[in-house]
Formats: sequence, C-alpha cells, structure tokens
Amino acid sequence: MSEDEIGRGAKIEPLRKAIPCPECRRPSQRDHYPFCSNRCRELDLSRWLNGSYAIPVADDEAKADYSDED
Ligand SMILES: [Zn+2]
Repeated sequence: MSEDEIGRGAKIEPLRKAIPCPECRRPSQRDHYPFCSNRCRELDLSRWLNGSYAIPVADDEAKADYSDED
C-alpha cells in the first residue's frame, strides 16, 4: 500500500465538521480554518516564528474575543 493511496482514500470529513480552534478551543470558522479567527491564526503563526510560547495569550484572551467578529 502506498502513501498516496492512504492519503486519498482514508479520511473524507464533512465540510461542516467543526474542530476546536488550536488556540482557544472555540469552534473553528471556515474562513480561518482551522482557527476561529484571524487573530488566532496570527497568534499561532507568531508563535511559530518566535519558536516559543512567549506571547501572553492568556491575558487578552478573555476580553478580545467579542471584538473580532464581523
Ligand atoms: Zn481561536
């Protein structure tokens, strides 16, 4: 069995299936998949760029979420 066959046949998930945002565990949005918002996507990206968890996510997580919807 080749890797190619596995990749194609194994797992087809329905589009609507919501997975938790890797950053904040809220349901992901299709526009920002697999994140819930562009903010979380950028957080994740900057985390990779910094190579650490140095960003103080916890502090602004509570208040920032309601201002990021359009
Ligand atoms: Zn999120």
